Amino acid sequence: MGMPAKDMTGLRIGRLTVLHRDESSRPGHIRWLCQCDCGALTVKQGGALRLGGSRRPVQSCGCLIKEIARKRVSTTKIAFKHGMTDSLEHRTWSHMRARVRHLPQYTKRGMHQPWYDDFRIFYQYLIETIGPHPGPGWTIDRINNAAGYFPDNIRWLTTDANRRRKKKS
Ligand SMILES: [Zn+2]
Repeated sequence: MGMPAKDMTGLRIGRLTVLHRDESSRPGHIRWLCQCDCGALTVKQGGALRLGGSRRPVQSCGCLIKEIARKRVSTTKIAFKHGMTDSLEHRTWSHMRARVRHLPQYTKRGMHQPWYDDFRIFYQYLIETIGPHPGPGWTIDRINNAAGYFPDNIRWLTTDANRRRKKKS
């Protein structure tokens, strides 16, 4: 700081066009009124509009981030349309989440957050470590009953074996 503020009027950064310096600017904290391609007006800090280190400059009023998030959700939906929602793995995942959400003894032990948030991450773990669902008559089991659904704490177990284990503990 201390240097005279660079005039950014007219610059384009992503979807933003800098219109003029905002009246709320204070020395060292120059703010700029920008017009986004979506039509929204937005005030941004000068620093946020410039490249700095590993930080990427702000590129929109916020509509770009929302679009990316929306696209991600629809990609998930597409993947499910291709049959994953009917799979045994997906059913297992739904049941795990339901237990964690509704049954206190599961809620307190928890579930690995990325698994909870995204079926594909859980599915990838299965494929890479304990394998796909072995078929009807098998269930997901927590190796250490005192812990929740976390990496290294799940395995496939036959429903019978699981029942016997539950009775003992
Ligand atoms: Zn926008």
